Amino acid sequence: MLVKNWIVDFFEKHRARFGITDWDAPGTEAYRDQVRMMLIAFKTHDVNEKEANDASLALGMVPPRFRNDHIPALIGMITDRRKPKATPDVQEEFHDCGYCEGAGFVTVYHRLYNGSRTIELRNKLLAGVVTAHCNCTLGRQLRARTDPETVLRMPDLADVISGRSRYLLDDPCGKPVAAAGPDKKKAGRGTP
Ligand SMILES: [Zn+2]
Repeated sequence: MLVKNWIVDFFEKHRARFGITDWDAPGTEAYRDQVRMMLIAFKTHDVNEKEANDASLALGMVPPRFRNDHIPALIGMITDRRKPKATPDVQEEFHDCGYCEGAGFVTVYHRLYNGSRTIELRNKLLAGVVTAHCNCTLGRQLRARTDPETVLRMPDLADVISGRSRYLLDDPCGKPVAAAGPDKKKAGRGTP
């Protein structure tokens, strides 16, 4: 359907949804001009009615503050929503990562790891071996999608490498990673 056939309905629905009271009254030239501005923006970006409605609803999370912000906010939301979302297929691209080999996760060791699964520190039991998010693109994406509580418990490989973490990339009581055989992985895939 042509934009001009649904724009007025949409305009009214959007205006009611956000309680925009300072837009000009229907029937006035200023009102028609405002609708025309939205029409031009939508035509320029080839927006369909469903996209416009979905974007209007999604703006509920980030309501525009001023009346002149609504059109750019709608267009911004629509173009954002058009971008393809990262899917697990992207994993193919990351097989070359030297740390995780495309898994997105890397095994890391607590500084005090001594070969046993747990470490007692100030009367608290800590895991000696945990899984960290890799610092490659896939690892970043996985971390971004992980709930905040889990993120707090899972080390970030970037911190481990830079020494900001209490975890180490190499097993402190074993051999360096380069010398470790295929066993390292099997032994390492623990839960945090
Ligand atoms: Zn990686």
